[in-house]
Amino acid sequence: MTPPNNAETPEAAPRPSNFIRDIMVEDARIGKHSGRVLTRFPPEPNGYLHLGHAKSICLNFGLSKEFGGATNLRFDDTNPEKEEQEYVDSIIDNVKWLGFQWQEPVCFASDYFQQLYDWAVQLIQSGKAFVCDLNAEQVRQHRGTLTEPGKHSPFRDRPIEESLDLFARMKAGEFPDGTRTLRAKIDMASPNLNMRDPVMYRILNAEHHRTGNAWCIYPMYDYAHGQSDSIEGITHSICTLEFEDHRPLYDWFVQQLGIFAPRQIEFDRLNLTYTLLSKRKLLQLVQDNHVSGWDDPRMPTLSGIRRRGYPPEAIRNFCANIGVSKTNGILELGLLEHYVREDLNKRASRYMAVLKPLRVVIDNYPEGETEWLDAVNNPEDESAGTRKVPFSKVLYIEQDDFKEDPPKQFFRLSPGREVRLRWGFYIVCQSVVKDEAGNIVELRCTYDPLTRGGGAPDGRKVKATIHWVSAEHAVNAEVRVYSTLFAKENPNDVEEGKDFLSNINPDSLEVLADCKLEPALGTLAVEECVQFERLGYFCVDKDSAPGKPVYNRTVALRDAWAKIEKRGK
Ligand code: ATP
Ligand code: MG
Repeated sequence: MTPPNNAETPEAAPRPSNFIRDIMVEDARIGKHSGRVLTRFPPEPNGYLHLGHAKSICLNFGLSKEFGGATNLRFDDTNPEKEEQEYVDSIIDNVKWLGFQWQEPVCFASDYFQQLYDWAVQLIQSGKAFVCDLNAEQVRQHRGTLTEPGKHSPFRDRPIEESLDLFARMKAGEFPDGTRTLRAKIDMASPNLNMRDPVMYRILNAEHHRTGNAWCIYPMYDYAHGQSDSIEGITHSICTLEFEDHRPLYDWFVQQLGIFAPRQIEFDRLNLTYTLLSKRKLLQLVQDNHVSGWDDPRMPTLSGIRRRGYPPEAIRNFCANIGVSKTNGILELGLLEHYVREDLNKRASRYMAVLKPLRVVIDNYPEGETEWLDAVNNPEDESAGTRKVPFSKVLYIEQDDFKEDPPKQFFRLSPGREVRLRWGFYIVCQSVVKDEAGNIVELRCTYDPLTRGGGAPDGRKVKATIHWVSAEHAVNAEVRVYSTLFAKENPNDVEEGKDFLSNINPDSLEVLADCKLEPALGTLAVEECVQFERLGYFCVDKDSAPGKPVYNRTVALRDAWAKIEKRGK
């Protein structure tokens, strides 16, 4: 029997195991939770998702799918001051775009506010929590350090009845922000600072994007998170390493409450060179107008890379292949680009586009005539077929493809030299036309009609093939070429007194406003991704207007060609 073909989606493709998967294999073997698997992706709606979140999404959804389970999308919306509906909407949109479907309905920690409150009351009643009248600064002073134990709050042993009364009055809105908290009563001498009577609730007279003004006390993330997992019956609560020290606290809460205990497993955060994956810093880039928005194509947000033209398949493949580990590291940005190229190489149709045009007149070609040449759409995919490309007397080629005084290793066009026009004819440069300032403005060339399709009947060879666009038929376009947003491999590596903004790359965006595209490139839909032959992969930007497309460079082709170029100089 042939094995089932489960390779149609990348997340179903067989791949090496990892320690989280191993745990789940073992849980399945011993029939833990009767084989039920439910994971969750729990973003806080305080910014747009980035590539780090993609790793977490692929892991959570990928594993639950493999084990026949499901994944919840849950918003950890416990911080009303920083959270917004816009972020909720973008996150939902991004997860769908990545290709994953959560178990309905979308969950919100705010849906559990009443339950969390009732449990807090229960903890007070059992002497495990107390209302503390210290302010934030005093709580900090009492906490101690890694080497010194903390001090008990003077309110720690106040009567249960008093705490119950005060907590109810906190909820009723009797006290101003920050004047009281509800704290767990655990162990002020614990070596784990998270266990030193952590705050469970604070007073915050802030409107919440979902609950409005129903609440003026809000649970801390550390109190809400584990119980939210428990309420939903999450079997494997997969999160990043910084939560390892919080696990004992999450376990403590569910134990005290006697409720379902999910198992938390931590993995390494994704870090990439030349990239920052922190919502706080990305927000700053947006707010201070260093980028055009959360979806600026230079941003590592999912909205940004989508607009840049990175396919979701490439992101899934990247995430599947980088695996997970127990220590944080930093990956080369080039590795991500590799997966983008690999994917686009298979799927993107090839076209010709001239980004920095130089006019070429074919002197021996008849005036006013057009012929349509056959061009292959994708040499990697025969089913993509062919298209017709117009050829006429006046063409554009790249300025870089001509040198009046060529160095030794330069094989492209120069005076007297013959080259092949892609899908077209051999041409020879006969003369150079310059303006008064001495700039080259036009080349006069001749073509050999017998070389149509790119070969000479007499067998003579040329050393270069260059791309071109017919001037009469060209679509004018703007092309935006990006490089990394940060100039330093580690953008957080800053000189004293400076911050990450000092590492911004001032040349991360180059706008080429006078590009010439072959006609077919004038009618593609926004987000469509193509290859401009010899230049790289590009996609249609949402800023395109009818008759005036805007393209983003997604990623350059592998630059072997530029290396040869360098050697020649
Ligand atoms: P940031 O530091 O960017 O604000 P966060 O961890 O605060 O990120 P959340 O919205 O709380 O963002 O994250 C949702 C989930 O995504 C969490 O489970 C978190 O562990 C995971 N996650 C966040 N950043 C990364 C990353 N760089 N690599 C892998 N997973 C991540
Ligand atoms: Mg967080």
